[in-house]
Amino acid sequence: MAADVIVVGAGHNGLIAAALLALAGRQVEVLERNPAPGGAIATEELTLPGFRHDTFSGWHPQWLLSAAWEELRGELEARGLRYVIGDLAAATVGGDAEPVIAWRDRERTAGQLPAADREHYLEELAGFDRIAPRLGAFQESDTRSRAAFGALLALGARVRGPRGPELLGRVAGSAGDWFGGFEGDQVGRLWGPWTLHTGLGPADPGGGLRTLGLATALQEIGMPVVAGGSANLVKALAETIEARGGAVRTSVEVDRVLVEGGRCVGVAAAGERYQAGEAVVANLTPTQLYDRLLGAEDLDPALRRAVRAYRYSRRAGMQIHLALAAPPRWREPALADVPMVHVADGLEAVRRACAEAEAGLVPACPTIACGQHAAVDPSRVPTGKGLLWIQLLDLPSTPSGDAAGQVEATGAWSTELAEAVADRVVEQLGAHIEGLEQSILARSVISPADLERRNPNLVGGDIYAGATDLAQSYFSRPFPGHSGHRTPVRGLYICGASTHPGPGLNGASGRIVARQILRRRRGRG
Ligand SMILES: Cc1cc2nc3c(=O)[nH]c(=O)nc-3n(C[C@H](O)[C@H](O)[C@H](O)COP(=O)(O)OP(=O)(O)OC[C@H]3O[C@@H](n4cnc5c(N)ncnc54)[C@H](O)[C@@H]3O)c2cc1C
Repeated sequence: MAADVIVVGAGHNGLIAAALLALAGRQVEVLERNPAPGGAIATEELTLPGFRHDTFSGWHPQWLLSAAWEELRGELEARGLRYVIGDLAAATVGGDAEPVIAWRDRERTAGQLPAADREHYLEELAGFDRIAPRLGAFQESDTRSRAAFGALLALGARVRGPRGPELLGRVAGSAGDWFGGFEGDQVGRLWGPWTLHTGLGPADPGGGLRTLGLATALQEIGMPVVAGGSANLVKALAETIEARGGAVRTSVEVDRVLVEGGRCVGVAAAGERYQAGEAVVANLTPTQLYDRLLGAEDLDPALRRAVRAYRYSRRAGMQIHLALAAPPRWREPALADVPMVHVADGLEAVRRACAEAEAGLVPACPTIACGQHAAVDPSRVPTGKGLLWIQLLDLPSTPSGDAAGQVEATGAWSTELAEAVADRVVEQLGAHIEGLEQSILARSVISPADLERRNPNLVGGDIYAGATDLAQSYFSRPFPGHSGHRTPVRGLYICGASTHPGPGLNGASGRIVARQILRRRRGRG
């Protein structure tokens, strides 16, 4: 079999690369090991018929702010893709404090803060607005490109303006450092749990700017969901590829990248050769690509050392999906329509849970991200029913004990352990949702081990396919000295969450790779 470009892995970055290349006239073939494309995007009736759960990711603010969406929007909407967005974005509830809510209206959000914090909060968001276009341009470019350096230079000029040095401080500072500048604890309560969605804990360097960026984005774009389920995005991408003569082949696990004379010429899967005339794109982790699919003879020793040093997070993720007899009855009625409610008793509780996970312990009180897709898109459930998308991001990847001393953990994620954690979460949520336990019709638990089984990019249940600390981000993602998307093997490219600009539904690395391949043909890459 032969194509111009072969894409290994049908995650959204692989599909975006393939779609953009197909639209530019390339013959593309996507090879995916799973029975369905999408990677960390899937919609399944995991619990009961009629309950459409977004199995993994389910919230698309990054995507709707991305350059790839801008480019592909017409094609995807023509294939029926539709987004639903409400006025509310997020909230945090926990302990005795009043819930703190974020609207798609920053003035309204600021209105809940103590008077002394309101202006400062709005100034912080406005400061981020000023750098957002340049930061966005950097995130959408290969770190080794002129565009990235241009964006950094322009950012540098901004940093010379008012509040510039403070913003620069945020780049290295933690989210906790940012929150520390407020008199009240509301900003930390509201946005502290969101730091976990950047792959960092509240005390980790680098979390300040990322959390501020998330807060700014969510109050602008809200929490968009795909009407009918996130898998409709995958379907529209696959149809775009197929309409241009490309193919998305499922249940094909690539086991070898073929290199001849220092150049990548294709891949092999179960003894079958797939020839690539122009390029191969790997939507994979660097550890799989370099350790498993390429031979040791194809890599120089420095790169092999860098691969060995690539780190996955010590904190793993887990998903719990609940089918409910009725929409959740929050004791705080204002939370009923909030797309994402975090349950955490303040920033200190988030910090503690992270520290417990880092130490290998199942946290006594994990931070609970409680997503309410059906509140935004009622088509996800049968009439009158409810569902919850629950995510935990502060579990140990290698559980060796329980901070609450109640469940046994012996170094690996068993079904029993995952179910016990789910019981704990349901009990803790029950303090905020009336009659939750009685309302559960069925539940599905996806442990860190299940995550890796379903997608080998999620090593050890690391939902971000590699630690996202400063030492492994930006110019060092995946490795210092190899942060670009071209690999040292000619004709072989890498994209996905393990590469710049990192995880999230942003489509950036898929778009970067497509542009590099197209430019190369024109003799510029
Ligand atoms: C549980 C979870 C929840 C998340 N929630 C959100 C969210 O709400 N919003 C958000 O913005 N981000 C979220 N994220 C992050 C985001 O979804 C991911 O960063 C992103 O989807 C990763 O995309 P990717 O292109 O790197 O590929 P992946 O999604 O990792 O897909 C890679 C594909 O490659 C396939 N593959 C691997 N090896 C081979 C092989 N040898 N041969 C063939 N195929 C292979 C895999 O099966 C997989 O389908 C979440 C992630 C997870 C896991």
